[in-house]
Amino acid sequence: MSDEDISVYDEVEIEDMTYDEALQTYFYPCPCGDRFQIALADLQDEETDIAVCPSCSLMIRVIYEVDNLPKPDEPEPEPEQDTPAQVSVAA
Ligand SMILES: [Zn+2]
Repeated sequence: MSDEDISVYDEVEIEDMTYDEALQTYFYPCPCGDRFQIALADLQDEETDIAVCPSCSLMIRVIYEVDNLPKPDEPEPEPEQDTPAQVSVAA
């Protein structure tokens, strides 16, 4: 732990960010035209709450609660394995 004060461009509530389910990443529009991004895993691990824009290196602090994050390790309900037998019509 250090007392280093990271200067952030802004603080943003996670509700105001866009979550990309495929990438498991939160996005927020950056003034430069690109997007700040932070991985869901980083938030879950409380690794960082700083989202960085890859284009201009601006940073924002994400305001969130770990308890409110989607849980990827939550087991998905198994779909019913009730595949109907393939009926091949032999003419
Ligand atoms: Zn930017």
